[in-house]
Amino acid sequence: MAFIPHPDRRPVLVAGASSGIGAVTAEWLAAAGYPVALAARRVERLQELADKITAAGGEAVAVPLDVTDEQSVLDCVAKSEAALGPLEIVVAGAGDLAVGLSYQTTPETFADQINIHLTGAYRIFRAVIGGMIDRARGDFVFIGSDVAIRPRPWSSAYVAAKAGIDGLVATIQLELEGTGVRAGVVRPGQTLTGMGMNLDPHDTEAMLNDWIKHGLARHGNFLAPEHIAQAVAAMVTMPRGAHMRAVEVEAEGAVPRARREQQIEPEGAGQ
Ligand code: NDP
Repeated sequence: MAFIPHPDRRPVLVAGASSGIGAVTAEWLAAAGYPVALAARRVERLQELADKITAAGGEAVAVPLDVTDEQSVLDCVAKSEAALGPLEIVVAGAGDLAVGLSYQTTPETFADQINIHLTGAYRIFRAVIGGMIDRARGDFVFIGSDVAIRPRPWSSAYVAAKAGIDGLVATIQLELEGTGVRAGVVRPGQTLTGMGMNLDPHDTEAMLNDWIKHGLARHGNFLAPEHIAQAVAAMVTMPRGAHMRAVEVEAEGAVPRARREQQIEPEGAGQ
């Protein structure tokens, strides 16, 4: 057999699991039977989620992580593996958005964004990839963004970091070919999470107006974190022998009410 199937037990590390996409992805995977290590800075939130998962019959452990600190990343991986066993799956989704016009952003803020979103994800990759290559299997999922394909004004550093993720993943995919380890990127569109909720309201208004001006806010619908969790799950549950390299998920434009009312009910509906 060219590809040995996934093992029954596949421990997962989710970086950025205290909120939003990471939290829901961890819950989703735990409900599907995956043991999960929940990692972020706010450990009390992680512990609450771990308790919820455990109460529902899953297996979860809360592990502190700051992706900007290499030792913290190494400790997080060591603690996760001590608790759950060697990591078969990693979801790198830690992020913290800062916005501002490129010509007003400071070099420090710019570098911080790169550090969290790009170098942070790379630090996690670097910490786990050796073990995955040794075992000749593993899934590493980077949470990128649709801004890598369609940049938005007011987030030049974030866009640069997420475009960097795309470049990093494309390179990694070449380097990992034939090792048995799969790396992929999930690119969410706008998703309703904690991200952006702490921004200055004036900045947010100006930013949204610029998005409209550039045709980047065609409708007001947002994705839910559950949508992204499903994309991650699709990527990591893909049977071995195939490799889902990139998934882009966008919110669907709402069907106008008049059109919805005309829609034909599927056969058997209401029976
Ligand atoms: P949230 O703010 O809800 O979650 C971000 C998570 O990252 C939190 O768990 C936070 O935990 C963690 N985090 C932030 N900084 C660090 C750090 N230094 N070390 C470790 N963990 C950290 O946002 P989302 O769920 O929206 O974001 C998740 C990912 O999805 C990000 O990569 C984001 O760029 C991406 N994304 C989001 C989109 C959206 O519209 N929401 C669209 C496209 C991509 P804590 O503060 O406890 O450390």
